[in-house]
Amino acid sequence: MLPKAYEPQEVEQKLADKWQKAKLFAAHVDPAKKPFVIVIPPPNITGALHMGHASTNTLQDVLIRAHRMFGENAYWVPGTDHGGIATQNVIEKKLAKEEHKSRHDLGREAFVQTVWDWYNECGNAIFNQFRKMGWSLDLSDIRFTMDEKRAKAVYECFRQWWDKKYIYRGKRLINWCVRCSTALSDIEVEHEQHAGKLWYLRYKGEDGSDGIVIATTRPETIYADAAIAVNPKDERYKNMVGKKVIIPLANRAIPIIADEAVELGFGTGALKITPAHDATDYEVGQRHNLPIMTVINDKGKMINCPEKYLGMDRELCRKETVKDLDAAGLLVKEEKYNNAVSTCYRCHSAIEPFMSEQWFVKMDKLAQPAIEAAESGALQFHPANWKNPFLNWLKNIQDWCISRQIWWGHRIPVWYCRHCSEKGLTFATDQQGREQLTKVSFEDGAQPIVSYEKPEKCPVCGGHDLVQDPDVLDTWFSSALWPISVFGWPEKTPEMDYFYPTSVMVTGYEILYLWVARMVMTGLDFTGKLPFKDVYLNGIVRDKHGQKMSKSKGNVIDPLDMTAKYGTDAVRFSLLMQAVPSKDIPYSEDSITGARNFCNKLYNASRFILMNMEGIQGPLAMPKEVTELADKWILDRFAHAIKTAREGIEKYNLALTANTLYHFLWGDFCDWYVELAKQRFQTQEKEKVMALCVNILYNTLKALHPLIPYITEEIASSLRPYVAAEGGEFLLQQAYPEFDPALCDKEAVRKMEIIQGVTREIRTIRAQFNVPPALKISAVLTAKDEADLAVVKEYEGYIKLMAKVQKLDIGVNLAKPKQTATAVFENIAIYVPLTGLIDFEKEKKRLEKDLAAAKANIASREARLAQENFIKHAPKEQIEKTKNELAAAKVALAQVTASLEDLA
Ligand SMILES: [Zn+2]
Ligand SMILES: [Zn+2]
Repeated sequence: MLPKAYEPQEVEQKLADKWQKAKLFAAHVDPAKKPFVIVIPPPNITGALHMGHASTNTLQDVLIRAHRMFGENAYWVPGTDHGGIATQNVIEKKLAKEEHKSRHDLGREAFVQTVWDWYNECGNAIFNQFRKMGWSLDLSDIRFTMDEKRAKAVYECFRQWWDKKYIYRGKRLINWCVRCSTALSDIEVEHEQHAGKLWYLRYKGEDGSDGIVIATTRPETIYADAAIAVNPKDERYKNMVGKKVIIPLANRAIPIIADEAVELGFGTGALKITPAHDATDYEVGQRHNLPIMTVINDKGKMINCPEKYLGMDRELCRKETVKDLDAAGLLVKEEKYNNAVSTCYRCHSAIEPFMSEQWFVKMDKLAQPAIEAAESGALQFHPANWKNPFLNWLKNIQDWCISRQIWWGHRIPVWYCRHCSEKGLTFATDQQGREQLTKVSFEDGAQPIVSYEKPEKCPVCGGHDLVQDPDVLDTWFSSALWPISVFGWPEKTPEMDYFYPTSVMVTGYEILYLWVARMVMTGLDFTGKLPFKDVYLNGIVRDKHGQKMSKSKGNVIDPLDMTAKYGTDAVRFSLLMQAVPSKDIPYSEDSITGARNFCNKLYNASRFILMNMEGIQGPLAMPKEVTELADKWILDRFAHAIKTAREGIEKYNLALTANTLYHFLWGDFCDWYVELAKQRFQTQEKEKVMALCVNILYNTLKALHPLIPYITEEIASSLRPYVAAEGGEFLLQQAYPEFDPALCDKEAVRKMEIIQGVTREIRTIRAQFNVPPALKISAVLTAKDEADLAVVKEYEGYIKLMAKVQKLDIGVNLAKPKQTATAVFENIAIYVPLTGLIDFEKEKKRLEKDLAAAKANIASREARLAQENFIKHAPKEQIEKTKNELAAAKVALAQVTASLEDLA
């Protein structure tokens, strides 16, 4: 027997241990079975469980558990990500806080060792939190993006792409984070709206004329200007193109050029062109062969500028420059201006476009097969509306900057001979007094040797003095290889043969380009096969107002706090109920309370059934033949619930699965079937009714198990003696229920619809007139046609029981008694005589009060909506809210008016 109340903490601890001990989540190569494989989006090793993990991983867990129960060889491949910049930042902060040291105090080798030590101690801690969530990962089997096998895969990819000339070294304007002091790829840059300013500056003519006025958001970069550009169609400046103007404060002359890229309407129509510090200007510069001058260095300090500003921070220099321009009479005006500022996705500092030599991957050839796969439908998106953004991104793909100037990550597998590459290598002494290679320039003559390990000697001069490239690879480089590296690629392993391609990739849409697109490209390039045919992109968990959760906003919900408070199943189920395709999830504790109530309902209903099993000898088979309407009906509802639940899983619509099972269990089964069946518990039919109850309940538990594994397992273990369960000890080892068309019964459903419809109308009347719940009433059902009354006549017992009616008169054209509440369901008129049920005077007074309130509500809302000021200036939601309130008040008025008429 189940304990009186469900104690999630105890049950979860007990079952999580049992499952791991039974190796329930392990998967092995088994050619006799169809594999179903998901590789987990590897969490960062510094991570703590957040709502994003909770949502994505719960979806994956449901799919994995369900497909296991479908009889497939389901494998959820676990692993963690080394996390590049993110991890380096965390460990740097930790060092600063605990030891007041920077990474430079430790030096590169010791710092990297510190991160490794940290990883070995706590790098898999997050999996204990994952275990708590009931996620079916085999924790004896964890991979890491920087372990030896994954490192070999990274090297192999680099080597092959180098040989194919996809990987190259290039000098480009790249995104530079001054704070993290590293390059970033385009998609690691975020764009934030900042309230900034637009300054209008005068550049005087070289000939002493007034020259030209330009508008800029970055006056500190004027010292790097290479030209002023105007649109060739701009009449105002036609005569000035080709002339020269003087950069204010710098006294250097630059030409005025014409370029289509200049927007006619922006500012004054004239733009300063600063190729070294702006991506668009860089392109203009390339077209016009302009010199590239850098005035901000990699630390964000000023260089190559008038002496006064040398060494100044870029932001201070901006202020000083504006002040000096104003003093010189060259600042024409300044305006408030909202501009999009590029920021680092890890630290949110402003990105500095920066000229430097970096490693790149040429993407156009890699993108082509991925484009074809998406266009042909071989690669499917769920929801499908992600296909076009995916294609657009691939069709406009830029080369991928893969080098990062940080220490934690896969080191670039390239070496240089100090003798042969001398001119291209720059060394500096670190704080430990060791000489370190700090900069590599192919332009100046560095010669790369691609090798995983340090080559024995230089292939050119035979020298032994070889140094490795100082940069590490973008963390997404190893992530891109994840679906193949987890199975041991480039080795030909049985796992690779059997488990690859995987079945589906489940992840948040915010990393569609950063990650999903790149896995598709690498998978196709190295294996000729898509790494997965389905991409299931889930929505972001937001707060209930639709805001992103963030620590600074204070609206973060911690999933572990919630599981401690409400139980893991409630947290899982609340997320699943809202996992509607293409929608973000507005989430609050209210969502979890609803799910917790469902879990309690399930538990209490199961306890009730178990209590009534006393004296019955199991196992009971599902009855083959049923004659009672309620039995026929519940079997139909059960069959359809299973059908829809399975469809939801197959079509990646888990909200459909969750909601269907919720309504079936709570509504159809508990509220209707068990209530109707109770009266047969004391009859000869008891065994048959109990057989239906336990079997339907047990199969519903199986259907719910992938969603709420703990509570279903706990209840099922108590029910098992009474059902003929096949398979192992755990629900996961049993088969998911199948849709059985033989159980469908349209006629029974139609009859129950009428019974339920009439019952609901009577219940509504009871509520409207405040009839005490226990009080039995009388009612009259009448229609013009005898045929319309056939069902209610046959099943008047159901209606009496469910609507608490003592005396039910059913007949054609019966008269409406006095002081009677009325309702209609289809062709049936329903009369509930109120005499003796309620205190008429009191009820009239209440209704009159309600009537007055409804009228007042209508008047005030109408008045508000008539105000021009309100309609013009109030926020949209408030107007919408007022309109809804007006509509609701009108409905209330109609209802109260009708009730008052009934009392007359
Ligand atoms: Zn940064
Ligand atoms: Zn050499």
